[in-house]
Amino acid sequence: MDLAERLTDLRQRMRAACARAGRSLDSVQLLAVTKMHPPETVDAAVALGLTLFGENRVQEAKAKIPLCSSRATWHMIGHLQSNKARDAVEWFSMVEGVDSLRLAQELDKRAGQADKVLPVLLEVNVGAEASKSGFNPDILLAELEPLAALPNLRIQGLMTVPPWKPQPEQVRPFFRAARELKERCEARLGEPLPHLSMGMSGDFEVAIEEGATLIRIGTALFGERRQAP
Ligand SMILES: *Cc1c(COP(=O)(O)O)cnc(C)c1O
Repeated sequence: MDLAERLTDLRQRMRAACARAGRSLDSVQLLAVTKMHPPETVDAAVALGLTLFGENRVQEAKAKIPLCSSRATWHMIGHLQSNKARDAVEWFSMVEGVDSLRLAQELDKRAGQADKVLPVLLEVNVGAEASKSGFNPDILLAELEPLAALPNLRIQGLMTVPPWKPQPEQVRPFFRAARELKERCEARLGEPLPHLSMGMSGDFEVAIEEGATLIRIGTALFGERRQAP
């Protein structure tokens, strides 16, 4: 299958998942994950109408983004080190992986220096996996107030990478936990949070059924990535 066929297939599966959940297709945004793929792949996706792209490494993104169509907008989807916060503010329209108050404070400072308000998602480690970044849910609730008080960040919702399971259905409880945590955050903040970023190539249909508004898709669009060196 070529990219156009994979995109058609993906949209069809998104539409079916939305129908099962009684949601409209336009309530779910597709973010195309282009890590380890060249600018030509991004431009081919832009030519097919995709505009939202994700990268998980600042170094790679900085080198790639200037070579891609200016119609592409970019989200940072991986773990971000504080010393890369300034670059992240410069190159991304949203940072999805804010996983500590300290990183949020650094992004806030850098966004302020750049005279920007940066949209962010708070990453939550719903599986409580030691190997993964993300807020522990209790800590997130405890730190929500100082996070929301940062003047140059706009919290738009939550992002999660659940534990890997052989069957997508086994991931459902983690997606549901993320949605429930988002609802608790909304209650705490007294305002709606528009975004819940969850679901990748192997499990996006379940994520949509559980309320994802942003799905992050690499392999199902662009094929297998070559291994990192
Ligand atoms: C690589 C990556 C994805 C995309 O994964 P696929 O399984 O290739 O769709 C999504 N989210 C994050 C955070 C990633 O690093």
